[in-house]
Amino acid sequence: LNRRLTEFGTTIFAEMSALAVSTGSINLGQGFPDTDGPEEIREAAVRALRDGRGNQYPPGPGVPELRTAISDHQRRFYDLAFDPDTEVLVTAGATEAIAATLLALLEPGDEVIAFEPYYDSYAACIALAGARRVPLTLRAPSFRPDLDELRAKITPKTRLLLLNTPHNPTGMVLTAEEQGAIAALAVEHDLLVVTDEVYEHLVYEGAHHPIAALPGMRERTVSISSAGKTFSFTGWKVGWVTANGPLVAAVRTAKQFLTYVSAGPFQYAIAEALRLPDAYFHHFRADLRRKRDLLGDGLRAAGFEVHRPQGTYFITTDITPFGEKDAYAFCRALPERCGVVAIPNSVFYDDPDAGRTQVRFTFCKKEDVLREAADRLQRLAS
Ligand code: PMP
Ligand code: GLN
Repeated sequence: LNRRLTEFGTTIFAEMSALAVSTGSINLGQGFPDTDGPEEIREAAVRALRDGRGNQYPPGPGVPELRTAISDHQRRFYDLAFDPDTEVLVTAGATEAIAATLLALLEPGDEVIAFEPYYDSYAACIALAGARRVPLTLRAPSFRPDLDELRAKITPKTRLLLLNTPHNPTGMVLTAEEQGAIAALAVEHDLLVVTDEVYEHLVYEGAHHPIAALPGMRERTVSISSAGKTFSFTGWKVGWVTANGPLVAAVRTAKQFLTYVSAGPFQYAIAEALRLPDAYFHHFRADLRRKRDLLGDGLRAAGFEVHRPQGTYFITTDITPFGEKDAYAFCRALPERCGVVAIPNSVFYDDPDAGRTQVRFTFCKKEDVLREAADRLQRLAS
């Protein structure tokens, strides 16, 4: 393994999901739903396969139907206009979008300011690009970014700000004011902004504001999203980038040599998914809001300190009330103690002390599964 990657072993998601399987535990660790997305969209994928659409290499930027649907989605929800031919790129999930974007835009030695705790692939991709991550720590209980601290971290080497809202793992959602202040800093210091918005449709309080819509931001922002979260098809790996033409061209150059193109038939199905009526998006969010409250109540009843998320399908808790001091050790022992798997947020910090006692649970599971998990977690108290 080369030096850039030596600090990155197996991802925590793979490690904890394997632990869930080997111990037969309820997996509230890795974020994937236990109910697949809409039947009609699965049918659309089958139709595409059967009709021979996408069974051979699709166009590099993505099939035109999907690029147009992504462009229409950005206009429908955010009043943002992107040319489907030059300003939209389909990727193999948001993961590839993140990798291709960072590899395309960063020079060795560049600094990237990113929220901490961070989604794990950010750190690895920044390292692959030979750049340096500069964490902006989101602190409990609110996990709001300190914008003075952000300003202080900007140096002549800062090349880009890597945002994530709604934020995994904390569930923090940037407010319009925060986005405005961040945008002003980006303009003032001429920084690029890469914004991971995979949970854009999972906001329970407030609203999702794409930073790309703010003045001066369209030409410096790469927005990333994915069908995995919005339509509950995490296994399809359909993601995308929207940005201005030169930025998309740069990301496309990197993407060509990562996957060349993304799998075809699912692209046609997701093109249909993006055109689902508003009711789909409303029900999806309402269902997860109910589950958030159900699991939040269960965790509180079991003795956890619960940080109520404004978005995503994750709840960050604190294990201090149990007299526990190490989230990773706690998560490794949890299956044995009560048959539940969770994710230690400590691994998403450069300074593990900062998240030492934080543990993340996902609530994108059936209600009876969440109830059963909450019951099992009650055992921790005894
Ligand atoms: N970004 C964040 C914040 C995520 O939580 C995830 C996990 N789904 C991804 C990116 C990766 O998305 P995908 O599965 O589409 O690659
Ligand atoms: N995004 C999901 C999570 O945060 C799963 C990510 C993964 O397995 N790479 O749990």
